[in-house]
Amino acid sequence: MATLRALPSVHQVLEHKDVQGLVAVHGRALVLFAVQRALDEERTNGAIADPAARVARVETIVRELRAPRLRPVINATGVVLHTNLGRAPLAAAAAEAAAAIAGRYSTLEFDPRIGRRGRRHDLVADSLRHLTGAEAAAVVNNCAAAVLLMLTALAKGKEVIVGRGELVEIGGGFRMPDVMRLSGARLVEVGTTNRTRPEDYAAAITPKTVAILKVHASNFQVVGFTESVELEALARVARQHSVLLLHDLGSGSLLDSAAYGLAAEPRIQDSLRAGTDLLACSADKLLGGPQAGLLLGRTELVDKVMKHPLARAVRIDKLTLAALSATLDLYLTQSVAELPIWNMLGASADAIAARARTWQRRLVERGIEVEVVPAESTVGGGSLPGERLPTSAVAITPRSGHAADLLRRLREHEPPVIGRIERERVLLDPRTVLPDEDDALLDAVAAAHA
Ligand SMILES: *Cc1c(COP(=O)(O)O)cnc(C)c1O
Repeated sequence: MATLRALPSVHQVLEHKDVQGLVAVHGRALVLFAVQRALDEERTNGAIADPAARVARVETIVRELRAPRLRPVINATGVVLHTNLGRAPLAAAAAEAAAAIAGRYSTLEFDPRIGRRGRRHDLVADSLRHLTGAEAAAVVNNCAAAVLLMLTALAKGKEVIVGRGELVEIGGGFRMPDVMRLSGARLVEVGTTNRTRPEDYAAAITPKTVAILKVHASNFQVVGFTESVELEALARVARQHSVLLLHDLGSGSLLDSAAYGLAAEPRIQDSLRAGTDLLACSADKLLGGPQAGLLLGRTELVDKVMKHPLARAVRIDKLTLAALSATLDLYLTQSVAELPIWNMLGASADAIAARARTWQRRLVERGIEVEVVPAESTVGGGSLPGERLPTSAVAITPRSGHAADLLRRLREHEPPVIGRIERERVLLDPRTVLPDEDDALLDAVAAAHA
């Protein structure tokens, strides 16, 4: 490798006028790192780049390091609560509330009225109590944490009864039997996969039983099954035998999904009214807020759970609390029209079709032929399984190559546009595209279709 002797030193590269320009913008440490990396690459490849190419490579390395990996994408998949794309987009008021707290000190754990320490989870407790009818409320990092905390604090070393049909995996490795093991509670399975009767629970109760746990079958459907009746019956069994009724509700909705033409998703307030002692649910599914887990129910239980040392490990962050508080405020003032996900779920078939046709017309103006086709959107995020919402999508046939290539080019655009493939065409569903994203989406299509 005699040629490698001609490789310049890090110092020589740093002296280069254009590299000095990069140092002025990005700082010496970062550029030094990029120069070292570029030279290492040349050494590894055994090929020496010309100075201009080397400087270009240094600039690329710096740019890649500085580009935020977490950045906005346009969700044209039609999956409203897309976990990989961040579930619920926040309402403007919630995003603003988080931004207003971010760069300042705040009343996170300090009550200015009494000049003393407060509890962060109390900041949203009043709103949650008012909205749900719960006696007490607390929030933690997410629903998975809420369930783990609930079981650890209340059921460690004791038996918890769960119906066989509810031993679900929510995705991302959240499997109920594993969570149960982790909490130290002993799982007692009852019933069968498709049906478990109240008597099955009653028969399984022993002096070691502390609770019955109901888990919402949130990512699959149990046809012909009425959740609320089941909960009320379970609450009776629990009361008769002096054990707790716990509920992992998953997607915590405050609104009646049926009023939006969707299947009925059990609401938080219905679960509490049916007699649940303590429930856990997500704040970033049908609630439309930031990632958080709500714990709602009897005061004595919420207090016990939040005093457990594990609560400290899964506590909620201040930005999340600010966003959650603003989201709940929209429910308090009945301003749910400001929640993006409920606008998406409630969008009429006509309104979506009109938007798809507008996209079509604007693309035709740019010389791109697309079709508007009937399609289906889904709720996603472990909410309303099997529920399909009729929609109209723009279908793009690639000029050449496969639909997968067109889908990739859309994905590689900035901002990335995420669509899906159906019958060798790329489908873009307007339902999940935010109102101010039309121009960017059409630019991406024009660029990817070229
Ligand atoms: C989604 C879900 C969870 C997990 O909620 P995260 O907020 O993602 O932690 C737990 N249980 C059920 C039933 C769910 O649907």
